[in-house]
Amino acid sequence: MHAPRRRLLKTLGAAALTAPAAGPAALAAPAKPREVPIMMDGHVHVTGRAYWEGIDVWQPQQTGWDFARAHAAGVNVIIENLGTYGYWNYNYSPKQTLRLIENFYRVAKQHRDKMALARTPADARRIAASGRVAVFLSVESGWDHEGDLDVLRAFYRLGLRSLQFSSQTGYNALSDVIGAGASNHWGAEQGLSRQGHAVVEEMNRLGMLIDITHASSDAQTSLIAASRAPVVASHLYASAVAGPGGLSDEQIKALAAKGGLVGIHGGSAAIGKRYREWMKANPERAQATSASLRGLTGFKVSGTHNVDTDNYGEFINRFDTEMRAAWKTSFAPWSDDTEARPLVPTPDEYAGEIAYIIKLVGPDHVGIGLDMVGGRSGVPSDPSGYPQLVAALKRVTTPANVRKVCGENWLRVLAQVQRMRDRDA
Ligand SMILES: [Zn+2]
Repeated sequence: MHAPRRRLLKTLGAAALTAPAAGPAALAAPAKPREVPIMMDGHVHVTGRAYWEGIDVWQPQQTGWDFARAHAAGVNVIIENLGTYGYWNYNYSPKQTLRLIENFYRVAKQHRDKMALARTPADARRIAASGRVAVFLSVESGWDHEGDLDVLRAFYRLGLRSLQFSSQTGYNALSDVIGAGASNHWGAEQGLSRQGHAVVEEMNRLGMLIDITHASSDAQTSLIAASRAPVVASHLYASAVAGPGGLSDEQIKALAAKGGLVGIHGGSAAIGKRYREWMKANPERAQATSASLRGLTGFKVSGTHNVDTDNYGEFINRFDTEMRAAWKTSFAPWSDDTEARPLVPTPDEYAGEIAYIIKLVGPDHVGIGLDMVGGRSGVPSDPSGYPQLVAALKRVTTPANVRKVCGENWLRVLAQVQRMRDRDA
């Protein structure tokens, strides 16, 4: 294109947006959205707060994560993890996922001047450029523990673009899980069942991001290997830095070779090396400080479900009443054990985790995934603290790498997963 013509189009550019499609203005390319720096947290829990606590999640809260403080601190993209804790035993997880999706849409509509659902990275950039928060939807703790492919497809249609693969509480029909209630149920299959493989294939076909957090170590390794597309550990850490329970160096290398990333957890009990030493030395006090959160993630309804007589509302009413109480306890004002308080990880310790992964596999495979909830401490101490993490990152790596860690890596992985989506999916 010749320069004078380009100048003409530039002059006409603004008019082109409203002008009828005729004359030279119609030839102008649509205005490119303003690019804004991305500040993204890949592991947030906020919808459950609106659902169970009945709060306005755009008002600053005393505990956990809320949009008000995070947005004021610069966050403009998140992956929201709808949490179906407790509903897994009774195959209520699809119902609970649907309730939370519906609740999310209601909140997003009510605050449409400040937030919107993102289905693609391009959506996220456009929403962020408009000054709002872009929200990708994922589910933690189970969407259907039998891994029904039609349920999966329906959730994709409703806007879900990521799923945490395993449950949080025990093995399911798909894979083994790490931590409390763990067992080696799918040991002979390296942690991943035949149905698990079918779900991996279908998530790849749909272009849904697989989150390997909470899967057993074997299942994590199997998921990385089985997926055609990059996978993520949305809220985890390098075991070499923080201690057991995270990813080994070998796993991080395999994950990176596939193009995936690790979102670094902010919790004291996850990345706080000094804090974890205190926990180990003081198991009873540590148990006491984490009791309310465990009551939520490990929630089990009282009594039993009689399939002949409990289908008339009584059972679910009891279930919901008890679950709401567990949720509210977990998000009630909370303070750490006085002895442990000075051991809560600092922003520099957080940056140290990231620096380690950059050294191990380069700057493209690490991001932020704080998992900030009630009932525990972490870094930053609340959602107004994201700038502290950015400042600490600037002390350990280049500005270009900081941009990657603060969101570009997340969007690149999502784009890659979606590019590999089958065209007929
Ligand atoms: Zn989690």
